[in-house]
Amino acid sequence: MTEFIDALREAVHAENVKQNVLLKEHTTFKIGGPADYFVSPETAEAIADVVRICRDYDMPYFILGNGSNVLAADKGYRGVVINIMGRMNNIAVDGNIITAEAGASLIKVSQVARNNGLTGMEFASGIPGSLGGAVYMNAGAYGGEMKQIIQSVSVIDETGKLSELSCEEMDFSYRHSLAEEKGLIVTGAVIELKKGDVSDIQAEMDSLLAKRREKQPLAYPSAGSTFKRPEGYFAGKLIMDAGLRGYKVGGAQVSEKHCGFVINTGEATAQDVVTLMDDVVEKVKREFGVTLEPEVKMLGEF
Ligand SMILES: Cc1cc2nc3c(=O)[nH]c(=O)nc-3n(C[C@H](O)[C@H](O)[C@H](O)COP(=O)(O)OP(=O)(O)OC[C@H]3O[C@@H](n4cnc5c(N)ncnc54)[C@H](O)[C@@H]3O)c2cc1C
Repeated sequence: MTEFIDALREAVHAENVKQNVLLKEHTTFKIGGPADYFVSPETAEAIADVVRICRDYDMPYFILGNGSNVLAADKGYRGVVINIMGRMNNIAVDGNIITAEAGASLIKVSQVARNNGLTGMEFASGIPGSLGGAVYMNAGAYGGEMKQIIQSVSVIDETGKLSELSCEEMDFSYRHSLAEEKGLIVTGAVIELKKGDVSDIQAEMDSLLAKRREKQPLAYPSAGSTFKRPEGYFAGKLIMDAGLRGYKVGGAQVSEKHCGFVINTGEATAQDVVTLMDDVVEKVKREFGVTLEPEVKMLGEF
């Protein structure tokens, strides 16, 4: 193992390699035990080196953005968490094009767009993820999704090879992309927006944020919508109609404000959340014949 740690240290600088890092401190759910290794690369090449080292040592790895769509296991993760948001967060603007690294906060990129009078990404201004996580998930809200604004994406494949893919090649669909299908790591993206008026953009961002504050339980830790939207339905409405508003397992609860969100009321464990999710899936299936699929990604063993 010393050899493995030395190799990681060489790839990403010693201070960027940590051990036994609590995942509850890196997820918006505020849940999760320790990751054996937690590395924060500063460049795409360093990520590729880490991937190759993990392959050589047969060590699993997991790419973490802002942890806003992740449920980390209580026992943590026996592998390497590659923390993209730690270091790689540069954002550059050229005319109506924004080029940003995967670790840039999506909210920050939206603000940079607004500051430069660029419209088209207001929908993303309240999504608390990294740009890389948003591309991987094809994040979206209020009629917008990443697919509409992405021009190209820089990725690393499972062998550590770097390449650039066009928006079409990313094969985006609802909360899905080629990155998810092929295990690609997103290292950056080029976003194409349109010229707009700063005060109009701000007004739209304010209006969407007000809607979020009104509808979503933002005072509690969560991972946003717990389930994907089933074709022809809304997950939150199905859960509410199944009588599960406020349903609790340990410290995990179906939000009373928005039934599509599972919240951590304080001391929820990952097991509480998983048990609650299983109960919800079963009850909704029984009542309405619809199978809910998790939107939240699991990290570690359950
Ligand atoms: C209060 C709240 C509101 C939310 N509202 C919305 C919303 O309106 N719309 C919406 O779509 N989502 C929403 N979300 C969910 C979440 O913010 C998005 O899914 C976001 O895109 C996840 O980004 P992240 O960086 O946090 O990814 P993480 O949670 O860290 O990771 C999510 C998945 O992406 C992978 N991943 C992350 N970064 C990369 C990368 N660089 N390369 C490859 N894979 C990567 C991870 O391995 C994991 O499988 C909300 C969450 C919260 C807590």
